[in-house]
Amino acid sequence: MSYESALEARIAKKATRAIVDFDLIEDGDRVMVGLSGGKDSWALMQTLDRLRERAPIAFSLVAVNVDSGYKDFKHDVIARTCEERGWEYRIEHTAIGDVMDDLLESNATPCSLCARLRRGVLYRIASETGATKIALGHHLDDFIETLLLNLFFAGALKAMPARLVSDDGKHVVIRPLVYVGEDEARQYTKACGLPIVGCCCPACGDLSFQRQRIKRLILELDREHPGVRQSMLKALGNVMPRHLLDRRLNPSGELRDSAALRHAETLPALIPIHSGQA
Ligand code: SF4
Repeated sequence: MSYESALEARIAKKATRAIVDFDLIEDGDRVMVGLSGGKDSWALMQTLDRLRERAPIAFSLVAVNVDSGYKDFKHDVIARTCEERGWEYRIEHTAIGDVMDDLLESNATPCSLCARLRRGVLYRIASETGATKIALGHHLDDFIETLLLNLFFAGALKAMPARLVSDDGKHVVIRPLVYVGEDEARQYTKACGLPIVGCCCPACGDLSFQRQRIKRLILELDREHPGVRQSMLKALGNVMPRHLLDRRLNPSGELRDSAALRHAETLPALIPIHSGQA
């Protein structure tokens, strides 16, 4: 069975590489796809569906949309699209929007609280539907933007994992689009005729100032140096803890590098010992 376009083949290849590199999907898995109705989640659902048809292993898919309860949210469009394509789905109606209004401090960015609340709902539904994996649509650009956001504004050198086991060990979150660019996801969703459904929340499309700045920075750098995004992604898989300053990874006083150790052992012979007499 061949792919319908070069774009589809390229995305399928990248997702397959991620699945292999990080052990994302195994034989017998039931994968629950977090389907927000945005371009990335549609691209993820379509990609996994294509891979499922061709994969040498058997796995099933169920799309889950968490409706935050905002007026005018077109969950019916999501439901109809899933039905037309023969995708198993579930729409979960919640009051996350109201809860956010109550919990959110003024001036705070809503998206991280929203993501935590939705994650909680996804975990619950995963248990109810017997899902063994929860797939999210984060792509390459999400990974590198998060890396720079943490680096510049949070004082931490971290992005996000392609595979994460929840704190209680009950759920595994996977991100099969880690090697797929945002542009590719956007083009693929459009080419497949999948309808982008806005979440209708007041913050929708209103990215934080820092994230907008990081997006612009990466865009400018990428224009000057095509390949900079790939290099950043590669860096996430090429970490050298001893060249960082985190003492939890590299306790001070421990010279584990044998070359450095040999060098250190020769130092006393090279440094003249003064007797204290002038
Ligand atoms: S834009 Fe709205 S719905 Fe989307 S993550 Fe942010 S707060 Fe949540």
